[in-house]
Amino acid sequence: MTEINDTNQNERLDFVRQIVADDMASGKWDGRVVTRFPPEPNGYLHIGHAKSIRLNFGIAEEFGGKCNLRFDDTNPCKEEQEYVDSIIEDVRWLGGGFGDKPLFGSDYFQQMYDWAVSLIKKGKAYVCDLTAEETRQYRGTLTEPGKDSPCRNRSIEENLDLFERMKAGEFPDGSKTLKAKIDMAHPNINMRDPVMYRILHAEHHRTGDNWCIYPMYDWAHGLEDSVEGITHSICTLEFENHRPLYDWFLDALEIYHPQQIEFARLNLTYTVMSKRKLLQLVKEGYVSGWDDPRMPTVCGLRRRGFSSEAICNFCKVIGVNKFNSTIDFALLEHCLRDHLNKTSPRVMAVLKPLKVVITNYPEGQSEEMDAINNPEDPNAGTRKVPFSKVLYLEEEDFMEEPVKKFFRLAPGREVRLRYAYFITCNEVVKNDRGNIVELRCTYDPETRGGDAPDGRKVKATLHWVSAKHALDAEVRLYDHLFNKENPDEVDEGNTFLDNMNPNSLEVVTNCKIEPFLRGTKALDRWQFERIGYFCTDTDSSVEKLIFNKTVGLKDTWAKIQKQQQK
Ligand code: ATP
Ligand code: MG
Repeated sequence: MTEINDTNQNERLDFVRQIVADDMASGKWDGRVVTRFPPEPNGYLHIGHAKSIRLNFGIAEEFGGKCNLRFDDTNPCKEEQEYVDSIIEDVRWLGGGFGDKPLFGSDYFQQMYDWAVSLIKKGKAYVCDLTAEETRQYRGTLTEPGKDSPCRNRSIEENLDLFERMKAGEFPDGSKTLKAKIDMAHPNINMRDPVMYRILHAEHHRTGDNWCIYPMYDWAHGLEDSVEGITHSICTLEFENHRPLYDWFLDALEIYHPQQIEFARLNLTYTVMSKRKLLQLVKEGYVSGWDDPRMPTVCGLRRRGFSSEAICNFCKVIGVNKFNSTIDFALLEHCLRDHLNKTSPRVMAVLKPLKVVITNYPEGQSEEMDAINNPEDPNAGTRKVPFSKVLYLEEEDFMEEPVKKFFRLAPGREVRLRYAYFITCNEVVKNDRGNIVELRCTYDPETRGGDAPDGRKVKATLHWVSAKHALDAEVRLYDHLFNKENPDEVDEGNTFLDNMNPNSLEVVTNCKIEPFLRGTKALDRWQFERIGYFCTDTDSSVEKLIFNKTVGLKDTWAKIQKQQQK
């Protein structure tokens, strides 16, 4: 587990911001700061991407620069417009201001091609006939040097001719590549004549069939950064070994050269973050879609009820550093609760209803109780909650034979109904099977509003809903999608799918909600008193109300921290 910055440490610059601040001070980039967030449109964004978004857009905001949203769309096979659209929506939602339009790496294909030609002319690139398999064999290993390709010493003229014919579509997929001529004995395998272009007769989601050669990531990425005048090209640690190649290409071309900086990616307990695995969960139906509220995707978290403020604050709290670590999911929930507590109106909802009849309350009568919408927010005001003779209480708030420390309702016992009256349970009604189906209680009219004039106390305050005013709802309760802290830790022969939690979703139908929520819209956030934070689902309608449980009220992170301090 990682150590978390406290608020004071947050004031100190992280190492990336320190580099930017130093560059501003020295005038290295003439006072410019240009960053970019470069997703490949081959999946939906997840909470790990949020860390990168907040870092890149955050730096641009703080230093008066700009941050580009640039699609790294150089691989035609896995990319789709659906992903482009979802990424734009999610980046905007996370506060990424990227001007009026996103940029696309594919817009630079011609420029990249021209630069490749210029490398060939400098004798620094060649067309190679080795197959993918042969290229692997020639590359060598960490301990052995590679071998030169038989094509390595082709003449510049021949290379220019072959490369042009590759582009013209004369050769089948995989039959040739363009490679950088660097050093087959280089200690860094990435520098052993890496492939720059491969032949792929495939439709691209933006360029159609204009191209049948496509640039490799390492070749394309630095060029995209260079074209856009990026100053700080911030990426995750696994690209550290690729930096020499990033630098080599830009130096060999003698073009504008940004600085690549690597930081540690975000890992979270009970979560997989690989796009390939998330795609598999979606495609194979383990979840209902990319926005399934159990998914760590930005749209999944949003549908679950996360606010962008909570996610941004989480990114701030975890900070940025150079060491890979795994963050406890409870910390994300802690940041979430913190924001929801301040912003979510409180309402009453009964998930598993138990019918209660107030025997001494007049038949047919009802009245309206004043309820505070959010004690944390004085501007949130109050609302009316209807009270009547028949109510619902939470099943688990009653015990016929109360155990020790159970202070809620029981036969002969008096409790407070929130914002309403004291009630006392006099009778338990059961069906033929012995199940409790109804409680018969009396109320004390003197206790209206929740206080007894004689000063007598009760040990519990329960939430409730008036039966004849209640709205029916479906409530979906969630748990982690995986039951292992590290879902990728698997036994021999198993996959991460074997670590899925079979109980990650519980659908509770027949819940009873106070009428205030009648017109609720998708993604409205609520606190159901005493239960947790909830959010109106995107499939919810007036005919069928559906709520997602966002997070419970108990702060497990605070508890973990207390234990650590002991
Ligand atoms: P892949 O390359 O396997 O498709 P990716 O997660 O690297 O997946 P990209 O679309 O390339 O996806 O990521 C866009 C940006 O987000 C990159 O700069 C990448 O470094 C960053 N990023 C991705 N995952 C994380 C993470 N877990 N934590 C922080 N940044 C991340
Ligand atoms: Mg990537």
